[in-house]
Amino acid sequence: ERIVSGETQREEEWAELSLRPQRLSQYIGQQTVKENLKVFIEAAKMREESLDHVLLYGPPGLGKTTLATIISNEMGVNLRTTAGPAIERPGDLAAILTALEPGDVLFIDEIHRLNRAVEEVLYPAMEDFCLDIVIGKGPSARSVRLDLPPFTLVGATTRAGMLSAPLRDRFGVVSRLEYYTHEELSEIVTRTADVMEVEIDVNASAEIARRSRGTPRIANRLLRRVRDFAQVRADGSVNDAITNQALELLQVDKEGLDHIDHKLLRGMIEKFRGGPVGLDTIAATIGEESHTIEDVYEPYLLQIGFLQRTPRGRMVTHRVYDHFNLEVPKL
Ligand code: ATP
Repeated sequence: ERIVSGETQREEEWAELSLRPQRLSQYIGQQTVKENLKVFIEAAKMREESLDHVLLYGPPGLGKTTLATIISNEMGVNLRTTAGPAIERPGDLAAILTALEPGDVLFIDEIHRLNRAVEEVLYPAMEDFCLDIVIGKGPSARSVRLDLPPFTLVGATTRAGMLSAPLRDRFGVVSRLEYYTHEELSEIVTRTADVMEVEIDVNASAEIARRSRGTPRIANRLLRRVRDFAQVRADGSVNDAITNQALELLQVDKEGLDHIDHKLLRGMIEKFRGGPVGLDTIAATIGEESHTIEDVYEPYLLQIGFLQRTPRGRMVTHRVYDHFNLEVPKL
């Protein structure tokens, strides 16, 4: 497991639960998303209606589940959580939908992984709050329409493009979560340290923020690991000296890159003079699947301007040479 992965790791869920902000006012960053949601929530409450369906998309660990929790708290309703792959048959979804209370929030993580048959049940449920159920088989089969309580579907996905168009069109609110700035992450680290009752100085939280790849989940994870070092090797309080030491041992560099990023970038420099080089060729050289590179390794490197996509393939930028203290090759 990569320490700089945005995905939840083993035994981390429990630790994360206590760190999750509960109200919109405690949710740091994502200003546009927050301001929009605030208005929509207030309007829905004034009209005493359920909130429109919300689609949240963006890389893992940016706070989609947290936002779903916050939406249900702000609306004052229950939250029911599930995930695309967990709903195997239309009947599974029907069971979930009929158990909802009026106004409830149903959160479906990885919503792009719902299968076709389940999606078809979802359309009338989202649009008209009803279920079309077929009773019986063969010539005697008939369709019965069942009313559902009004509810809000909050869907989360890492890529909106992976959603079928008819499903995407049924969301009234579509919000993209962005990578967090260093300042926002620093604020998140400070808040987390406060919840964990760990003393941390501003330089240390800024250092953790810089190495967290724009992702709160990674920031909180790095803080937990650095705290362990501070406890064992020092007096428990976190300063920038212990932070630098710990992160060096954990092999997370100044930009939040780990050995896999290094292998990829150095491979491109050493074997292909920095590119442009095709994704499949890079994949073969470093022994990874191309879709893993595209979905997992590459997004952050593109985001920080270390990689560039060109029509002829991927290219490293001069920032990578600077980062590794290498000379940019002459053309
Ligand atoms: P996944 O894609 O894996 O479902 P996610 O995008 O739903 O991830 P969350 O589980 O909501 O991410 O967030 C990960 C952790 O980061 C949570 O423990 C939460 O405490 C923290 N976090 C996320 N966003 C914020 C924020 N804006 N302010 C403070 N903490 C945050």
